[in-house]
Amino acid sequence: MINIDFSLAIGLYMFIFLIVVFLLWLGIRKDKERVLTIDPKYIWFCNICTHTYINTKEEKFSVCPRCGSYNKK
Ligand SMILES: [Zn+2]
Repeated sequence: MINIDFSLAIGLYMFIFLIVVFLLWLGIRKDKERVLTIDPKYIWFCNICTHTYINTKEEKFSVCPRCGSYNKK
């Protein structure tokens, strides 16, 4: 009886552990999809230092956060 209960507890523990890992994996996957689905017009590419950054406030001109130069679309 003790052995059966012990293996059942291990089994349940492994089952819960796998569910937690699966949920974490889903969460990480959702975060990645969210980054990939950002509107391309918000992604800026600096012509001076080739730094890629996201700016959702400006539409025509944007200041590069790395070198401070102005970039236009
Ligand atoms: Zn720059």
